[in-house]
Amino acid sequence: MPKLIILGSSTNIPDETHENTHMVLLGGEHMVLIDGPGNPFIRLRKAGLDEKKLTDIVMTHFHPDHVSGIPLLLMAFGLSHRREPLDIYANQHCSEYMKKVLNFYGWKEWTSWHLFPITFHTIPEEEKFLLLETEEFRIFTSPVKHFIPTIGLRIEFKNNGKVIVYSCDTAPTPNLIALAKDADILIHEAAGESGGHSSALQAGESAAEAQVKELFLIHYPTNDFDYHDLVGEAAKAFDGPITMAEDFMEFES
Ligand SMILES: [Zn+2]
Repeated sequence: MPKLIILGSSTNIPDETHENTHMVLLGGEHMVLIDGPGNPFIRLRKAGLDEKKLTDIVMTHFHPDHVSGIPLLLMAFGLSHRREPLDIYANQHCSEYMKKVLNFYGWKEWTSWHLFPITFHTIPEEEKFLLLETEEFRIFTSPVKHFIPTIGLRIEFKNNGKVIVYSCDTAPTPNLIALAKDADILIHEAAGESGGHSSALQAGESAAEAQVKELFLIHYPTNDFDYHDLVGEAAKAFDGPITMAEDFMEFES
């Protein structure tokens, strides 16, 4: 049964029990990592997964709390004798910067990193772009409203029609409402109101406007912050179930 596992739920400052936000989508033939801060190699293992089965990486935007661990992951794959190909998807901005970072690390010269083929795919700036279709699911992307070019994701499961949407980092935007329309689950960031982020109340407003069934808050401040109040804040706008996403929480299709 395909499923989505949260590998981190914190905003940019993590703590001992909340890694920076990222997740992994599992199907029969595909394992798709969605962002990769920290050390994704270890994180996949902690989730009980065989990291060698990773087939795809989707990078939502080029901020370190989302993608800083990708070079480390690729290095670990190379040095652990991976041979299977890997597909990496990102918008033009993120793709260009990640390639620069890899080159700063000597990617092109260090041949032991090169023994498995990596293909970069550029995600166009268009709404509901079909990024990947497998036997179990389809992933669509739309640009959202962050400080730099960023995508939100819509996952549609084929076995039962269930839809999970991840807002990624975004201020309220019609693109996200359209992407999340009638979803079963909206996983929405609650980093706090700003030009490129949303408060829990705004997450609730977006959930209500998109008429989703259930809201999970993610990418929320941790450490000493009393994040449990965020559910009450979101509930002022959204009357469906609201839950704090936590590390290693699983969403079955
Ligand atoms: Zn960001």
